[in-house]
Formats: sequence, structure tokens, C-alpha cells
Amino acid sequence: MIRNVLDYLDIDAAKAPSKAALEDEYGCMTYSEVRSFARVIGTFVARKTGVTDKPVAVIIDRNARSVVSFFGIVYSGNFYVPVDASMPSERVSLILETLSPVMIIDARKTDKVFEGAVSYDELITEDVLKSSGEDFCSAGFIDEQLLSEIKSRMIDQAPLYSIFTSGSTGVPKGVLISHRGVLDLVWAFEEAFSFDEETVFCNQAPFDFDVSVKDIYNSLYCCGKIVIAPRKLFMSPRLLVSFLAEKKIDTLIWAVSALRIISDFKALDNAENVPALKRVMFSGEVMPAKSLNYWKKMIPSAVYVNLYGPTEITCNCTYYVIDRDFADDEKIPVGKPFVNSRVELRDEALKVITDKGVTGEICVSGICLALGYLNNKEKTDEAFVTDPFNPGYPVRMYRTGDLGFYDEDGNIVFASRRDHQIKHMGHRIELGEIETALNSISFLTISVCVYEESREKIICFYQADTECKKEIVAELSKKLPKYMWPNEYVRYDVLPLNKNGKIDRKLLRSEWEKNNG
Ligand code: AMP
Repeated sequence: MIRNVLDYLDIDAAKAPSKAALEDEYGCMTYSEVRSFARVIGTFVARKTGVTDKPVAVIIDRNARSVVSFFGIVYSGNFYVPVDASMPSERVSLILETLSPVMIIDARKTDKVFEGAVSYDELITEDVLKSSGEDFCSAGFIDEQLLSEIKSRMIDQAPLYSIFTSGSTGVPKGVLISHRGVLDLVWAFEEAFSFDEETVFCNQAPFDFDVSVKDIYNSLYCCGKIVIAPRKLFMSPRLLVSFLAEKKIDTLIWAVSALRIISDFKALDNAENVPALKRVMFSGEVMPAKSLNYWKKMIPSAVYVNLYGPTEITCNCTYYVIDRDFADDEKIPVGKPFVNSRVELRDEALKVITDKGVTGEICVSGICLALGYLNNKEKTDEAFVTDPFNPGYPVRMYRTGDLGFYDEDGNIVFASRRDHQIKHMGHRIELGEIETALNSISFLTISVCVYEESREKIICFYQADTECKKEIVAELSKKLPKYMWPNEYVRYDVLPLNKNGKIDRKLLRSEWEKNNG
């Protein structure tokens, strides 16, 4: 019975040991190498920690070593947590505080290893690299017995990874996903899209973003290949397109914002630019029909799929294969549920809505649901509720906070958000997290942020005696990653309040729009 994602790595490495599994800018790793190196890491982590089901942080980069470290941690019976150390140190510390990892592995190619971490090079030494087959065990790098004992005790509901997302109270939340959630995801994707061992995925999303989970595990399941695109290419759309052609990429599972880099800069001339491309799948935010139409016009032969879902339901719970033309101003549906996910619209009392055109909150149940937010019971209880209309036995349900409605064909169409969560440059951001950082700045009395969707700008309205944008940015740079810094700053002597005595965000937004055309 398959109950661990690495069962597929074992199968692939036995079936196709010398097939390329992971490629990055430093080279290529075969399935056999990936499995062996991961088992070396697994042995080390298991011996050193002596625990299972505990978090191990991985300081990630856009490289194959990050993925091998993830698998190693899974072989040790623990779960991995990708951490991007290029974020401001205060935020990294907040994440590590919430996490209390039993170990940290630094997977970067760097001389300056993250404080308190074991570097990948210390684990995968020159001796390990020179080993093969039986040598791994005879030299003591891999303890087959230890790893198989750990595996035999594991259940499918054990945690596999945790990914941190922005938190409205200022502290990022660690979404904890199980093996079962990911198995459910890859089986559903297989049923819908039939990947095979010829499939070449181009990884775009950083490994601390759940879009990347689909590359890793769909590829593992179908014994395909992942090519990790270097970060710098996303600043040169034409070079990115050439890269896709050179690497014979046939499948993109990308964030909308990444696909838009190519369409906004009109980096395609025709299908010959990327002759192997068969599937273009996107998620994370609304795909403007205009951008999609550009892609379709340039590469009409590809299949385009809108994927929808938050990190908390293991990547995606609905999909829509684009099966007709859309006008530039039309909304592209997020579609219907994947097999084995229940996706419903619910009113404010959580009663199911079935009528077309009526807006409700998108609520999800099924094995795809996260185990919760790590070490955060309060936020877990807020978002993962029990269906009040199923009194006979408890049914867990995740309230996405997204609003949607059914179109004429019964597809769900994403309408808007219920709260202050936004998507900006592909990043999920709680405006509350930016506000918490702003309000901790001593010279600011109070501030709020709003998001101007049409111009894709975060606007900060702050109350202070004098203009102090430069000073605010200097303070924010210590606390938040750059993508979370507001794009505009507007000073007020006193911020206006609404009838309920709260800062009047609506008024602030409309005044800003009036003053800025
Ligand atoms: P994340 O957890 O980073 O994947 O962000 C999840 C949120 O992104 C969802 O709750 C939605 O608000 C938004 N989102 C994801 N996919 C789509 C989509 N296809 N269309 C519109 N919004 C989306």
C-alpha cells in the first residue's frame, strides 16, 4: 500500500536508475543519485536527531540539492520546512521561532553556512559522491535497516512538509501538509492530465512556495524530469523562452505572475519558439484573459489549465481546462473540483449555495486539507472548521476566505477575497502583516495599507507629523521581504475614521484614486 511519497522515488530509482530526475544550473542528477544522496541525508538526520514527525528546516536555493535535502528528511521520518534565508533576518527568526526545528540543513552552495545549520556539502561529501551501489552501506553512509524501520512505522497522515505563508497578525503561519494530501494531489493530477516519463517540467516557483510542490511530486509520480530554471532568467523574458526551448520543456505549472512576465513583454513570436511545449498550467491569482489570449495566440497547440486553491488544501482543489475563447475582459473560471476534493460555496451561516450567480465563500473538504498551522491552534481553529450542517459526525472543512459563484456551466468563478489577503507579484500577502511591521515603527502613530488592484500597488497611509517615507522604508527593510514593501506612501496628520471608529480604508482608497487619476 502506497502511504509515503518516497515509495515513488524507490520505484523510479529501481525502474530507471540512470534517467535524469533533476537538473539545475550546476548539472543533472539521476534517479539513482537522488535516492542514494537522499538516503545518506536521511541516515544522518535519523541518527543525529533520533526523532520522527519533527520539523527540519532547509535553507533553500534554486537547486537540486534543496529537493534532495527534502527527500532525505522524509527518509528520516521527519518533515521538511523550506526557508529562504534571503528574507530579512527578523522574519527568518520569526519562522524559526514558530518552528523550533530539530535540525537545519543549508542546501545552498555557499561558504557562509547558515548559523546552526549543517551544510549539504558536509553530508554529501566527496567520498559520498565517489561511492556507488553497495559502497553507500558498507561505508556506513546509509543505514538501510534504520531507514526501513522508520518507514515501516510511518502512516500516511504523517506530516510531509510545512510551508510558511503571510499571517495577518504579523507572524507567518506554517501550513502543515501530510503525505496523504500530496498522494491525493498527484493521483488527481494524473487522472486529469496524464503525465508520463517523457514529461519535462520546468520549475519556476521557489521551493518555499507551494506551486513548486506540484513539480516535485508530479514528476516523481510519473518518473519525469524537473529542470529548475535559474532565477535570473525571470528578468529576461526572451532568454527564458530560449531556455524553455533548449531544455525541451513540455509542461509549465507556473504562477500566473511568471507566465505574465512572458506575455507582458511579448517575448513569444510563434509556437516555434518553444516547440516541445504541450501544457501551460497556472495558479495563484486571477489570470487576466488578455494575458492568456496572448499565450493562446502564440502557442495554439498547447493545453491551458486554470488551477485554483490555497496552500492549505495541498495546492489545488479545482481546475478548468480552457475549452473556448474568452474576451479580454471576461473572467476565466477556476472550474470544477478535482476528484476526491469537495469544493462548495457557502453563505455567511455556512449553508451550502447551489444557485448559479450567487456569491459565497469557497469551502473545501477532503483528505487534501492541511493538518493545520504548525504550533498555532488559534489560527487553525479559525480556518479549519467543522461543517455545522453535518451534525451526525465531524466533517473538517477549510474556509478559504475566497468568494466565488457558479457560472451557467456549473464552473466556479473566483470573485474576490473576504478579508485583507492579497496577491501581489505572485506573493500571498496579508496586509495585516505589513501593518503590524509599520505599526511597530516608533515614529509612526498609526498606518494602514490598501491594495490598488488595477495598478498592482500596495498603498500605505500613515499618520505622522512629517513626511518620512525614506525612514519608513529603512525600517521595513529590516522586517519584511522587498515584495511586501508598499509602493506608495501617503501621509496624513490624522487618518480618517468611519462610523464604527475604525480607520476608513474605503475613504482613503477613494481619495487616493481621486488624486491619482
Ligand atoms: P497560495 O496559498 O499562495 O497558493 O494562495 C492562495 C490564494 O491565491 C487563494 O486563496 C486565492 O485567493 C488565490 N488564487 C489561487 N489560485 C487562483 C486562481 N486560479 N484564480 C484566482 N485566485 C487564485
